[in-house]
Amino acid sequence: MISRIDLRGSTADPRELLPRAEFDVEDALEKVRPICDDVRHRGVAALIEITERFDGVRLSSTRVPQSDLDEALTGLDPKVRAALEETIRRVRIVHRAQRRTDHTTEVVQGGTVTERWVPVDRVGLYVPGGLAVYPSSVVMNVVPAQEAGVQGIAVTSPPQKAFGGKVHPAVLAACALLGVTEVYAVGGAQAVAMFAYGTEECAPVNMVTGPGNIFVAAAKRLLKGRIGIDAEAGPTEILVLADDTAVPAEVAADLISQAEHDPMAASVLVTDSVTLADAVDVALEKQVAETKHRERVTTALSGRQSATVLVDDLEQGLAVANAYAAEHLEIQTRDAAAVAARVRNAGAIFVGRYAPVSLGDYAAGSNHVLPTAGCACHSSGLSVQSFLRGIHVIDYSRDALADVAAHVVNLANAEDLPGHGDAIRARFDWTVPNN
Ligand code: NAD
Repeated sequence: MISRIDLRGSTADPRELLPRAEFDVEDALEKVRPICDDVRHRGVAALIEITERFDGVRLSSTRVPQSDLDEALTGLDPKVRAALEETIRRVRIVHRAQRRTDHTTEVVQGGTVTERWVPVDRVGLYVPGGLAVYPSSVVMNVVPAQEAGVQGIAVTSPPQKAFGGKVHPAVLAACALLGVTEVYAVGGAQAVAMFAYGTEECAPVNMVTGPGNIFVAAAKRLLKGRIGIDAEAGPTEILVLADDTAVPAEVAADLISQAEHDPMAASVLVTDSVTLADAVDVALEKQVAETKHRERVTTALSGRQSATVLVDDLEQGLAVANAYAAEHLEIQTRDAAAVAARVRNAGAIFVGRYAPVSLGDYAAGSNHVLPTAGCACHSSGLSVQSFLRGIHVIDYSRDALADVAAHVVNLANAEDLPGHGDAIRARFDWTVPNN
């Protein structure tokens, strides 16, 4: 079911040998451009028409009434409510610890630079709702924004035909538990355009975050600049780095759990143990046959983006993991913590048997909105920091400026920008030499 790539003895760059899913955002840009233009020019009327076309739902308003949020919370299964509350509690503990404090540096006597952390005024959080619904993503987006101190938080999620054209009740209930009252029943590229341009029913936002499908990713790329965005999310991925101490049934279960998200999801096992690789193949056959979303899982596991990769040893395994820069990286080896410490590129690292990705998806306290498609070599997952701007506040006295005035004038002249030097000299009755 899962293909095998043998890198033993190979010195080739592993990036060339580990294909990723086809996810051509450039191609989707042309499809989402007219959608975004339409929302920009016709607002709610365009959103209603586009939603009818793609979601099969005729909205009377894009805004979800408070009564729907209250109703969803009242009707929420107590077990799900308890699980969401515990998730919120843990995610809040971790994200509260990420808060930043302003810091003032006295560069010279009378000359200070303060770094002031200021939250974005208003954010739009996208919660996917196509193949699956994600109340957990509400938590992962809203909690960091709240802990950063963002005042205006709006959430949007596609309306569900199967739920009377409303947003999924579990998503609405998660919003209600978090105290979010501004919720919209809009999905896809049109939701990103609604947030970016604003409509009669939704004020424009400064920033849009949250994962979504290719149309959501394309709209974020198209409107980036007008709005800030988090990392562009592609299909989800897991890489398990395992040796002969790993338990095959557990490795197989973790590969399946990722494949369950999306037919384009990538599940990759990297191991120096042929015995483990063979045993995982057997476990996959058995578990896939019994899993609920077997069609989606089979497509993902047999796709070109999923594979078992054989390596000579752990060193080569680590090189492969670092080159791949997986969204989720599991270490299932001896001394897993020591191996994890040597990883440089990953969205999140899960150490040992008792920290599977499923834990991180829901209730570890960590964030599950993570960089995909190799972006973990330059980007981080969603955090409090994503919603903050560090503003430098420069405060110099006359004496402190006088101390450095000649240096500024000389550098300005070296850049052939004498007006810059003059702006300093004017403050000292033009007494600072100009050469
Ligand atoms: P989605 O909400 O992103 O997209 C659904 C919307 O797409 C619909 O509302 C519809 O309006 C629009 N759409 C559908 N077909 C269209 C078309 N032909 N043209 C234009 N628009 C169209 O939900 P999804 O599709 O299930 O995708 C969710 C993605 O988010 C998955 O890939 C999943 O793996 C990912 N995800 C990632 C994370 C993470 O943290 N990285 C978490 C949750 C989900």
